[in-house]
Formats: sequence, C-alpha cells, structure tokens
Amino acid sequence: MKYDVVIIGSGLGGLLCGTILGREGYSVCMVEKNAKPGGCLQSMRRGKHVFNTGIHYMGSLDKGQILHQYFKYFGLLGKVDVQRLDENGFDVIGFGSDGATYPLAMGTGFVDSLAKHFPDERHVLEQHAAKMKDVCRSLPFYALDDKLYGAVFDKPYIGTCADQYLRSIIGNTRLQKILSGNDPMYGTISDKTSLLLYSLINHSFTESAWRMAGDSEQISNALADGIRAAGGTIICRRTAERFVVEKGTAKAIVLHTGEEIEGTQFISNVHPQVTLRMIAEGDIRKLYRMRIESLQNSSGIFVLHVALKERTFPFCNHIYYHYNRDNTWPSKFMMTPVGNERDGYAQAVSLLANMDFAELKPWEHTTVGHRDAGYQELKSRKASQLIEAAEQHFPGFGQMIARQYTSTPLSYRDYTGTPEGSAYGVLKDCNHPLSTMVFPRTGISNLLLTGQNVYFHGVLGVSIGAAATCSELLGAKYLMDKIKG
Ligand SMILES: Cc1cc2nc3c(=O)[nH]c(=O)nc-3n(C[C@H](O)[C@H](O)[C@H](O)COP(=O)(O)OP(=O)(O)OC[C@H]3O[C@@H](n4cnc5c(N)ncnc54)[C@H](O)[C@@H]3O)c2cc1C
Repeated sequence: MKYDVVIIGSGLGGLLCGTILGREGYSVCMVEKNAKPGGCLQSMRRGKHVFNTGIHYMGSLDKGQILHQYFKYFGLLGKVDVQRLDENGFDVIGFGSDGATYPLAMGTGFVDSLAKHFPDERHVLEQHAAKMKDVCRSLPFYALDDKLYGAVFDKPYIGTCADQYLRSIIGNTRLQKILSGNDPMYGTISDKTSLLLYSLINHSFTESAWRMAGDSEQISNALADGIRAAGGTIICRRTAERFVVEKGTAKAIVLHTGEEIEGTQFISNVHPQVTLRMIAEGDIRKLYRMRIESLQNSSGIFVLHVALKERTFPFCNHIYYHYNRDNTWPSKFMMTPVGNERDGYAQAVSLLANMDFAELKPWEHTTVGHRDAGYQELKSRKASQLIEAAEQHFPGFGQMIARQYTSTPLSYRDYTGTPEGSAYGVLKDCNHPLSTMVFPRTGISNLLLTGQNVYFHGVLGVSIGAAATCSELLGAKYLMDKIKG
C-alpha cells in the first residue's frame, strides 16, 4: 500500500502533523521505533507514581490564548489533566547565596510581583512585558496571520540575543538573573539564545502557566487515538533506516526489518542530522547536508525523580528554579511537583539540571540496560549533588526521599534518537540566525521536517512548528483559518 503521507517518528511533532493531515483526508502512516508513540511525551510509572519525562509545564492555555487555540483545534481540550499554577507565583526563582526568593505572577501581576522588589524598575518591567508580547505577535503561526508569513526573518528579534537585550534594558543584575531564572526551559540563557525564543517561552508562561498534573502520555494517547479514528496507521517497534530516493524524490522508507513503506509525501520527526544519515550521498545537496551536519545541539538534562515519604514535603503549586550558592554542579536546578497534593503535602517531585555530554563520553557506545557500575556511580554522585543543592532551599530534603530514579542525556539519546541526548535539539544561534535555523523544507522535494528542531521546542514551539510544516502542503492561510476555528 502507498500512503499519502508517511511520518517517521511519533513524538509530539509527528503526532500533530498526523492529526492535521489525517483530518484533511490524507492517508497517514506513522513509523515509531519505540513500543509506544509519544517520544518525550512518555511517562514512567514507578510504584504508585507516574513521572513525566519531557513535559512538566506549559503556557498560554487560558481561553483565547494561543496554546488553548491549538489544543482546541487538535481536540486535546478536556483530555489532558493540567493544573493552573499559582497565579501569584507560577515560577519562583531562588538564590542559594542569600536565600532570597522571587515569585513571578501571571498576567498583569507579573510586573507588580517584580516591581515590589525593584520599584525603580517598574517602567522597564512594563516595557519588557510589552516587548515579549510584541515579539511573539511577529510570528505568523503565533498571531495566526498569514500576512506575517515569511516576514519574521526581516524582524530583528531572531538576531537579537536575549541576554544582551536584558542587560541593555535592565541595570540590576539580580533582576536580570530573575528574568532568565527559568532558562533550563530553553537550555540556559547564553550569548546564543534569541529574543524570539526567550519571548515565546516567557510570554506564554506569563499569560497563564499550567503544569501536567497527570501523565503526559494523555497527550500522545489522545492524538494517536484521533489519528487512528481518522483512518491513520501507527506502526511501533520499527526503526526507519533508509530513504529510497529517485531523481530527488523520496519513494519509500526502509525499516530495520527490511519492510518498505511507500508514500507520496514524507515528514521526518526525527532529528535532522539523523534524518540525513538515512539519505544516501548524492541524493541530497551536499551544501544542505554540510549545513545540517555542522549544527550544534542544545545541552542535555540530568533528571532526578523523587518519591517522597508521606507528609514530609509541603506541596508547592509552582515550578521552583534555584541558583546554586556554591561554584559546583549544578549551577542551577529546576524542581517541579509531580501528581497531586495530598492533605497539603507533595507525593513526588522531579529535579532537573543541565548535564554536559562530555561527562558521559566513557559510555557513549553503550545502550540502556547495558551500562557498567561506573555509570551507576556517576548517576548516584549527580543525584547526591542535586540533593545537596536542593537542601540549600529545602533543608532536610534528603531525609524526605523514599525512593529516587535518575536519567541522563544518554537515556534520552537512546530513547528518542536525539544526538547526545540533547534536550531541545538543534541550538539556534541568534548570532547566525538563518544558518542555524531548521526549516520544514529539505533538499528532497517531498520530504519535510517537523518537531522541536524546526523553529522552536516545547509544547507551544512544536505545535507552531507542526502547523508550519503542514502549511507547506495545505497552505498557510487555509490552515490558520482552521486553527482559528
Ligand atoms: C527533560 C526535559 C524536560 C522538558 N520539559 C518541558 C516542559 O516542561 N515543557 C515543554 O513545553 N517542553 C519541555 N521539554 C521539551 C519537549 O519535551 C520537546 O520539545 C518535545 O516533546 C519534542 O517533541 P518532538 O516531536 O520534536 O521530538 P521527540 O519527542 O524526541 O520525538 C521523536 C520521535 O521519533 C522517534 N524516532 C527517532 N528515530 C527514529 C527512527 N529512526 N525510526 C522511527 N522512529 C524514530 C523517537 O522514538 C521519538 O518517538 C522538555 C524536554 C526534556 C528533554
């Protein structure tokens, strides 16, 4: 059988493309290497707790806001167990050096919550909030305005570095750090993070921030059910290995089993560097291959999932970010509640901190379940360091732990196929915005890319990216009108 669209990889990006195109009458076949669809949407059950691996919170889910509009169109509203974070402090930024904490409030409260601590900066904070909104509105699939299509790269935002921008408008270094406090959500603020990416993430959280109170597989299950209901096929436990390309057009994808799946159109949700390794030399322009191969990836993340002893750790309905007071790893960590509160107490939490792949080099050629005692030792050392940093803000935290589970970028690499287990895929560099941006089109006429490597990562970024990918087939205005409803 030949399908209208063959989608390789069933992470959020692949599932959303399958949803959009299935609804438009395309026959869809998705190929996934893992046992279940979802990629980073997968969660893991440990005892009575369910830990999410790649989605902890998201923004702009209030009625009328952009992710709400996308979720409505994708049929996800009411199917995903989310909880609105604390209105007066959805993120709390803490400093181990002096114990100070700064809650960030949603909506108009955002400026007030910070102006309380920095009254002289109120005006600048207002400008900052307005700027983030403006920047987001320059994005066609954010504003859902096709007249902006193509013009986004004329705007300076993609070539403006977020940290330089913050330093240019805000003199107070503590406030600069607070405003980039949630940078683990975009792989740490650096001289490479664009104002566009920074604004997309921060503005959406500031509008309204929601945590996954239930399991993030609810998203992938709902999308997969929708694709099947529209007549689509999802084939799991099959690794795509090689494209059959004739005269610049893809004809089929060959799986590890030797099966071939033919299609008219192909969409890869797999990292672009891995996708290109599935295309023979000579079948795609050398310059394109060289550009994609030369791209750097964002950092990976070490994760410590913790099941807490009963009634030990008060439940906090916010995401906590902590700057370490010591000059040791982790320089910053993020802590997110897991599941629901019970009598005011948390049952579980997850802690996340960036991890350099260089530390994992000795195990680079090993796979999950086949790593030695040295790797286990590294993981427990990292977990202890993370717990020690957490104790700066939560004294006695280590004593509250009933059980703990860890994962490293190697786990993510093996699971999602992302090079070096990078958390957010290709690192888009604001100093070279066009050469480090990945677009849906490739050098193969009927092969498109989707997922976090295309334009932006995260639930909102990948939703925007999937719409941009499908607009190549459906037309931007047509699709935007459908999303607007
Ligand atoms: C630790 C962590 C925490 C995060 N927290 C948040 C958060 O709180 N909020 C937020 O918005 N975002 C968060 N993100 C980012 C978000 O999870 C991702 O941006 C998004 O889920 C990526 O989706 P994707 O479709 O691009 O890729 P993936 O989820 O990586 O999907 C790719 C799929 O392709 C499959 N695949 C790979 N190779 C092949 C092959 N050869 N053949 C067949 N299938 C293949 C993989 O198995 C996988 O299913 C987090 C990410 C990480 C790592």
